[in-house]
Amino acid sequence: MDTLTPVTEHLLRDMALPEPDSDSKDGRGRVLIVAGCIGLPGAVLLAANTAMRAGAGKLQLAVCRDLAIPIGIAVPEALVIGLPQSEGGSISRTAAETLASPAERCDALLAGPGMAEDAESEHLVAALIRAVGDGAVVLDAGALAALRSDPALTRHLPRPAVITPHAGEMAKLLDRERAAIEAEPLAAARAATERFGTVTVMKGARTHIVAPDGQAWCYAAGHVGLATSGSGDTLAGLIAGLLARGTAPAAAALWGVYAHGEAGRRLARRHGGIGFLAREIPGEIPAILADVL
Ligand code: AMP
Ligand code: MG
Repeated sequence: MDTLTPVTEHLLRDMALPEPDSDSKDGRGRVLIVAGCIGLPGAVLLAANTAMRAGAGKLQLAVCRDLAIPIGIAVPEALVIGLPQSEGGSISRTAAETLASPAERCDALLAGPGMAEDAESEHLVAALIRAVGDGAVVLDAGALAALRSDPALTRHLPRPAVITPHAGEMAKLLDRERAAIEAEPLAAARAATERFGTVTVMKGARTHIVAPDGQAWCYAAGHVGLATSGSGDTLAGLIAGLLARGTAPAAAALWGVYAHGEAGRRLARRHGGIGFLAREIPGEIPAILADVL
């Protein structure tokens, strides 16, 4: 029988988050987020704020040139890198050159939230991943297409990448119907992990997490209010922030899924149900992490 462990506070207590190896911000890791396009700049903010709320020490945001100033003002904690952009308003593939050194030096790279799903992104993400040194990697949304073209893309990395598709993105990744993914989400997560060698977070009302060694978990205790625009961007940033702190990939995925779901529950309680905003999720995270520990 397929064993599936529920993600609970109890489970996470046996997977304590690593202590920072120094008292400085460098000890809690540097996150590099490559995200957004002209039509979806808010995804960058949501991922960035959640990475910092997860306790990452330093933040670099790499965005289309036209977004650099507004994003820098909206996220004053970040160092912002303005990148060449395509006519369509997405990050151009030529940005790979500018990003080679930040990607090599970061502790966690997150690519994809709000990123266009086009050939530019695909080339850029492939080049970025090849440039990563010791850092951990999270791929979400627009960055997932790079795996479709090259399923072995992340296999050279020192540790498994984490991918965070919802059912629609998983359907494209595996070239299956969305209904088939929704009918058997655990099987889909297992298929993705086998094909790409990743820690797979198959998102939904019930989220399934599968590690390359075959371990599988599920989390179904979140709140329906989390089905809201930008919610997944906060989860991706959260996992990246935990990775930057030195958390192992599967543990970062489990902590991230739990804390995201718990944030939804707390916000729903406070607001009386659905209608809370994705931008309110990051502020919940520090207390949730502290409550589990
Ligand atoms: P995205 O579609 O990328 O914005 O991600 C949506 C996020 O909300 C994921 O973390 C899902 O697991 C979560 N989510 C979506 N629908 C529900 C639901 N009905 N109940 C709880 N969580 C949900
Ligand atoms: Mg999403």
